[in-house]
Amino acid sequence: MSKSRRDFFKKLAALSAAGIVPVKVDGLLSGESIPKQSGFTKESELKWYMRSYRRHFFDMHIPDWNPAFLSKLEPQTIVDNLLLEKVTAVALMFLPHTGLAHYPSKIGKVHSAFEKRDFMKEIINLCHSNHIDIVMYYCLLYTEWYWDMHPEARTVDVDGNYQHAIGVGNRHAGTLCPNNPGYRKFVEDQLKEISGMYDFEGVWLDMTWWPTVCYCESCKKRYHEEIGGEIPQKIEWLDPVWVQFQRKRQAWLAEFGNQMTDSMKKLKPGVTVAHQSGQFAWGSWRLGASNELARATDWLSADTYADWPTQSYINKLFYSMSRIKPWEHVMGWGYPWMKETVVTRTEEDLRCRAFDAFMNDGVMTFLEAFDPEGTLNRDNYLRGGKVFADIEKYEAFAGGEFLWDFAIYRSFDSEVPNRFEPSSRTELLGDWPVSAGPTEHLPASIAMARILKDNHFPFGVITRKDLNDLGKYQVLILPNVAMMSLEEVSAIRNYIAGGGSVYASKYTSLLTTGGQRLNNFGLSDLFGVDYVGETSEVVTYVRPTGQYKDLFDPFKEEYPSTLNDTQVITRTNGTAEIIAFITLPYTDPSGRKYASILSDPPGVDSQYPSLVLNRFGKGKIMYSAGPIEIWEYSTQREIVGRLLKMLTSKPLFYETDAPGTVEITMFNQPDRSRFILHFLNYQNQLPNIPVQNIHVKVNMDMKKPSQVLLLPDKKEIKFKMNGNTLEFVLTELIDYAMTGIIYH
Ligand SMILES: [Zn+2]
Repeated sequence: MSKSRRDFFKKLAALSAAGIVPVKVDGLLSGESIPKQSGFTKESELKWYMRSYRRHFFDMHIPDWNPAFLSKLEPQTIVDNLLLEKVTAVALMFLPHTGLAHYPSKIGKVHSAFEKRDFMKEIINLCHSNHIDIVMYYCLLYTEWYWDMHPEARTVDVDGNYQHAIGVGNRHAGTLCPNNPGYRKFVEDQLKEISGMYDFEGVWLDMTWWPTVCYCESCKKRYHEEIGGEIPQKIEWLDPVWVQFQRKRQAWLAEFGNQMTDSMKKLKPGVTVAHQSGQFAWGSWRLGASNELARATDWLSADTYADWPTQSYINKLFYSMSRIKPWEHVMGWGYPWMKETVVTRTEEDLRCRAFDAFMNDGVMTFLEAFDPEGTLNRDNYLRGGKVFADIEKYEAFAGGEFLWDFAIYRSFDSEVPNRFEPSSRTELLGDWPVSAGPTEHLPASIAMARILKDNHFPFGVITRKDLNDLGKYQVLILPNVAMMSLEEVSAIRNYIAGGGSVYASKYTSLLTTGGQRLNNFGLSDLFGVDYVGETSEVVTYVRPTGQYKDLFDPFKEEYPSTLNDTQVITRTNGTAEIIAFITLPYTDPSGRKYASILSDPPGVDSQYPSLVLNRFGKGKIMYSAGPIEIWEYSTQREIVGRLLKMLTSKPLFYETDAPGTVEITMFNQPDRSRFILHFLNYQNQLPNIPVQNIHVKVNMDMKKPSQVLLLPDKKEIKFKMNGNTLEFVLTELIDYAMTGIIYH
């Protein structure tokens, strides 16, 4: 953007923030030439992120022991590549993992390639004059130079050793403690220095998670002052002392993250700040995620490298947690992830991933690492540009209110290992996420997302901050949410009383978030069962009974469905209807005695409930004694789909006969009187085989449709009304399609 144009936008933004002019700029820009980059479309608004659906992220974690490193950086070539890629914003690394400043810092150590030139100034000016916004990247906590210079700020593990990150090989970076006051001051001083020298629109702060469970002097001191005594050294989720320490870790990290954001916003009023958000995607207690930490980030952004069902779950979580939209998916175009620099993803792969973010109101940010000498592979930018050219056609139709019938509840406070087994001491060491058992809260949540996606049930993911809005969803899903606060229990109770439906599994509400194990579920009266114990058998069966037997087809009483997990033993406490019982194998699979040498077939029909359906107030609750959402095989996952459908009380936002390789998302844009439906075909093996004749039924909710359009070309699609349901056919889906339903 030219200087004058940039100033014009800024002044306008200030006036707009003060309520003096409306934020729409359509008319105000008339007379100005159309910018070369077309991010500033007719429907775009002032904030940089709202006009930015094509972004790039430069990795630049390169040391300076070799004078050739970063010696070939040519701003004009770099920007030419970005223009080929058609990007609207770029993240530039001011301070990477090396800890070496990429600008003439007077406080820290400057990378030798930048001692004699102000590269950042050159490239920022060039980007701005080409209408590319700048996101200033600064790495927190994982920086090598500061670690080398300041041993007192290093994280210290439970064995008393300094921690060097192990997440990406064994040389990622030295890790620093967010509780170290000297380090906090250093970061604030550098952010101040950068803010005073450069013009940028966004900030991206990397690595805002706990590098390990830290036992450094700063942590010991805080623990002693705020709790008293010594930091516990045993992971014990049934011990409130350990759980209290974990809550402190979450609070300390949230304080650190929010302090950095607040400092940045004071230094640069109007700037938007993101923190690396992988800790929310991956969960793991060790990283210290919390809703309070999420407050530090204006938009959620992470490089996740997840498979599609998992990514689909993350997309919805990031959507609901992002204060501003679009949220962001950063993805290296090396395959499978950033460890690879030469093998690049195919155009089809990039396209599916980019539209996957877009269809969830997110933005794809392609990441590429500079070659050590500072050069770039132009071919990648050409390929990325083809994908972004496709995204660009649809940008004017992005956004709106995401429509979900089902909401999966995600708790960052619900870390309970299966069967409450003590955790290994090695979990205290290391910096990467601890992998949870397959039936614990996070894996169970992701498994449930896969079932909802495959069934084409409109679903999202919500967290504690959404407790006051539960009424927006038909069904709330609590996948093994073992630890719950009184606030959560109370909100769910009110939601059900008011007519909401809940599916809950296994330990849900059996512990408080403070780590107190209760004698009974916090929600026992709603579940309609009391907690009694747990099977010792780790292979169990779900045996259908009564009027709902058919829902379990092809399974039946004699051939119940296998669950590779224990189940909670309960007894009904009132009116709950039993849908299925627990069947046990003939023998305990952990013993030597067997009924069949290679397997543990069902043998003992117990009278313990496995699945119950209860009513409370105007709502319905289904409680499952085992987390059946982890069922893997299609015949089993279809059962979960049928059971969940029973909990709905009105038509879903949409229904379709599309195959499971297709995902649909739907948004309402009431300001433009239209629904937008996104269709993505994403097959395991690319390029996609096109899918023909997808039938779609949309619940119009009393709105009267006037047109169904295939976007962006606005080609009319025939539709018919069946009562309140609009029906149309999408005749072909290759990779991505968008339809708009105009209503009045
Ligand atoms: Zn520490």
